[in-house]
Amino acid sequence: MKRTDSFPASYAIRKRSPLILLLLGMALLAFTLYNTAYMQAMERIREQADANLSRYIVSLQHQLDRHRDLPRLLASQQQLIHLLENPGNVQSIETANRYLARVNDTMGATDSYVLGTDGITLAASNWGQHHSFIGNDYSFRPYFQQAMEGGAGRYFALGNTSRVRGYFFSYPVFRSAQIIGVVVVKVDLEDIEEDWSDPLQDILVMDEDGVIFISTRTNWRFRTLGYLPEIGRSTLRQSYGNHEPNPRQGLPPASPLASWLTEMDIARITASRRYGQAPLLPLDIIRREVTEQGDLLLTLFDTPATTSDRQSGRAGHYLLQSRLLPNASMRVAVLASLRPLQISIFKTLALGLTFYLILAALILFFSARHRMKQQHQAELQQAHEALELRVKLRTRELTDANQRLQQEIEQHHQTQNQLIQTAKLAVLGQLSAGINHELSQPLTAIRHFADNGRKLLTRGRTERVGTNLEEIAGLADRMASILQPLREFTRQHQGPGQGVNLQHLRQGVMVIMSGQLEQQRASITWPEGLEKIWVAGGMGRLEQVLVNLISNALQAMAEQPNPRIEITLGSSPQWVWLSVHDHGPGLSPDALAHVFEPFYTTKPTGMGLGLSISHRIVHSLNGRLEAANHPQGGALFTLTLPSLSPREPS
Ligand code: ADP
Repeated sequence: MKRTDSFPASYAIRKRSPLILLLLGMALLAFTLYNTAYMQAMERIREQADANLSRYIVSLQHQLDRHRDLPRLLASQQQLIHLLENPGNVQSIETANRYLARVNDTMGATDSYVLGTDGITLAASNWGQHHSFIGNDYSFRPYFQQAMEGGAGRYFALGNTSRVRGYFFSYPVFRSAQIIGVVVVKVDLEDIEEDWSDPLQDILVMDEDGVIFISTRTNWRFRTLGYLPEIGRSTLRQSYGNHEPNPRQGLPPASPLASWLTEMDIARITASRRYGQAPLLPLDIIRREVTEQGDLLLTLFDTPATTSDRQSGRAGHYLLQSRLLPNASMRVAVLASLRPLQISIFKTLALGLTFYLILAALILFFSARHRMKQQHQAELQQAHEALELRVKLRTRELTDANQRLQQEIEQHHQTQNQLIQTAKLAVLGQLSAGINHELSQPLTAIRHFADNGRKLLTRGRTERVGTNLEEIAGLADRMASILQPLREFTRQHQGPGQGVNLQHLRQGVMVIMSGQLEQQRASITWPEGLEKIWVAGGMGRLEQVLVNLISNALQAMAEQPNPRIEITLGSSPQWVWLSVHDHGPGLSPDALAHVFEPFYTTKPTGMGLGLSISHRIVHSLNGRLEAANHPQGGALFTLTLPSLSPREPS
């Protein structure tokens, strides 16, 4: 019972197991491919980002290095010192202006200018232009303050007048160890931005507040990236507990790593007029993640600075790599798009899984074909076994039927022999009548010779007694020969028997039939030369056949006053035939068709066995018995037997 219950479940599992295996394999392959593709693509992006970062830093560094020492050089120039000593001297101003313009041009700087100790511009390379710095107060600029403190200053800011972003180098001008002014050289860094050509990787340069002031993506300029621990700026809150959501975005920091500028920070930066009135919004970062490999991954909405609607942007995934620029308090970062990573993973997965599915389909197809073949073979085997079983059963049935048939044949054979015997006994009646008839004459004669003999003895004529006795002996012999057929008849014959001489046959038949022939006043004509002809057969059986044919002929002519029967003889080297022709009504078509069948009779007291038994007797002697109508009327029965002629009588 338990087995029956568990069968369908196990069958279902077995049936489904290839699918489960396929899915498991697919999941495993997808996992492996994903990981490999991720690693490889990430490695490529990382390398590319690293190379871009290095390239950009070198180029930026080069640009800055070219101008770094220029203010110091200018601070030692007499024209400028003279100007600072005589700030109101028109001649000195002009000389300084021209000098600055020349040096500026030669060095490829954007602007060069000289500030007094109050921060007012006294001379500038752009003195002749409409946005000339002359007269402008830059005392608020940190680079001025740094120089006034006696050191070299450096600063990045949006030009107060020009609105052009630039890097400012400053240096104090000394006279007798006293600062009498500041020389400033401004370098435009926008060229590097414009020359950038990698569409998948963007360059960001941030100040110590995390404000992006150079970006290859225009809409990221003057936005903040949030806290990057390596910058180590004091104003950035480094304790996680001190986060405040950005009030303008209403968004909390995406992770403890993110930290936005506070209101205070923004107020401070705005007051410094460093980036004009830029609102300093943070980039719309929705996720920050540091991977096991140490990669910093960002997911951010690529929205323009002015758009506060998140829905209008598209989230992009990036790898962030950054390096501090030595001596410049700037951080240069590459924001590498992870699209190639996604594409690479997608391609690898698509290719790998397609290949896998094709392979799996092929394997499934061939295994299904193999299974079907096996099933087909099993079915064939089953059919074969079923057929064998049927053949066995059928053979057994046939064997049984055959045995039954054999038994029936045996029974039939016995019945046939019994019938022949019965019919023979019927003929025996006729025979005894014939014998009775035949014996009455010799008996009368014997009686006569015996009486005569006794009389002759009384008269003493003994010589005549001997003659009479001889007659009696002869008559006894004759009687014995008459009784011979009776002995033959009582014997039951089997097989072809001995050869029979037709003359002997005739005599036997005539003995049997004599009474009947005489009674009907009938005559039989026999052919000549019968004594020379021998046929295969038994005397008794052939007598039975001929007696039957002659009896039937006599019965057919029962109404005739002088019935005639003609027996004719024919022979070939192998065969001998005797034809019995009567002059009765002949055989009807029905009789012709059925005359040899048992129990076919047209006679009221007939048994219908005579001809059928005769037919079998002749058949058992390897002969033939045929019925026909004679052309001149009457029935014609032809008995054909194997010839034994020429054979001498034994
Ligand atoms: P039965 O004599 O008992 O009828 P048989 O087998 O000897 O049986 O004969 C079968 C039938 O064949 C007869 O009833 C008869 O109709 C037909 N028949 C046989 N011999 C002759 C004949 N010489 N002439 C006409 N009909 C015959």
